[in-house]
Amino acid sequence: MKHFRSNIFNPISPTEVDFLADHVLSFDAEKIHAITPFANFSGAWEDYREHIILPGLIDLHVHLSQYRIRGMYEPALLPWLKEHVFPEEMRSSDPDYARGLSQDFYRALLKRGTTFSVIYTAPFRQAADIAFEVARELGIRAKIGMTMMDMNSPEGILHSTDYALKHSIELFEKWDSPNLGYIFSPRFAPTCSETLMRETGKYAAEHKAFIQTHLSENIEETRWVKQLFGQETYTEVYADYGILGPRTILGHAIHLADTELDLLAQSGSNIAHCPDSNFYLKSGEYPLKRMEDKGIAFALGSDVGAGTTLNMLYHAKQMNFRQSELPVLPAQMLYSITLGSARILELQDRIGSLNANKDADFVLLKPPQGFEIGMHTLSQVCFLSEDFEVSKIFVQGQDRTVEG
Ligand SMILES: [Zn+2]
Repeated sequence: MKHFRSNIFNPISPTEVDFLADHVLSFDAEKIHAITPFANFSGAWEDYREHIILPGLIDLHVHLSQYRIRGMYEPALLPWLKEHVFPEEMRSSDPDYARGLSQDFYRALLKRGTTFSVIYTAPFRQAADIAFEVARELGIRAKIGMTMMDMNSPEGILHSTDYALKHSIELFEKWDSPNLGYIFSPRFAPTCSETLMRETGKYAAEHKAFIQTHLSENIEETRWVKQLFGQETYTEVYADYGILGPRTILGHAIHLADTELDLLAQSGSNIAHCPDSNFYLKSGEYPLKRMEDKGIAFALGSDVGAGTTLNMLYHAKQMNFRQSELPVLPAQMLYSITLGSARILELQDRIGSLNANKDADFVLLKPPQGFEIGMHTLSQVCFLSEDFEVSKIFVQGQDRTVEG
């Protein structure tokens, strides 16, 4: 058992956060045992009074296969996919490339304080298996999905409907553990046939599996979807083909009519909001207030490679910056990279906040020299995360700190 004396920020809801100044976090090789005010604690402890502790951060939407093309710019989604994403994802058909990439990606996640992530891999069975294997070797927790695409894609990453379905189902059956799980991952409607979407939706509903895809990121894309499928709106395509539901996570969701918000709300679907990516590709501003008014659950994704960094605190800052009128507050920023995501993933009993009997997933951050620690530190870490050092990261009580 370890006992860390420090200062804890614990998310409760989008509007509430507990600040536990000078408390002792007691944990073993898996779980948190207790969080005790230092005044009531007796026994030996390790001194982290110059640090703050946050729950392990959660990234709700990230592409492992695009980690190395961050910052390679094209000014809109569709040209960016063609110029940079598809050629890079093809390289993951080489198992050695896929393995090295997975190692670099997971180490970078840990360095930035992320303990759980929801991942798309390149559209190759072997690359997906390698992503799982390396995650297991490094003690990473994640939901991982092989990107599916069976039309409108270049030779080399285009697969048959049978390939996409068969391997996704096998991966789902193979990789099911407390730390790693499968998520069905049709890339987005323009590259997925009606059959692929229908079969995916049906299988996922029958097996209580999660699905992730992208929705209404870019205006050109929404027009293309209308041409391809004929439905009045993009969301209707997913609704008609069985993709929506309480275990569905839709990336972006920017350009939506009210009727689409109703479909999302009625189906209990969730959104991965990716503000950095949305302004990088000039996709547009997330309708945050409208989502809240409809009671649609959302939390933050980095969307690397259109997102520029795996640092989820940076994305929390972008959540504030990328609303032109709405002032997003630090409590909501923290919630959206921790407990908000845990709830969407139905893992709120294990991760997302720090309480006795939850998993010991947390990160220690050191403020800049001379900064006093208090309630205001939450706001500072949300807006100045680059100035805070990730000094340690624990995943299920194991020290997973990456040196260098
Ligand atoms: Zn994405």
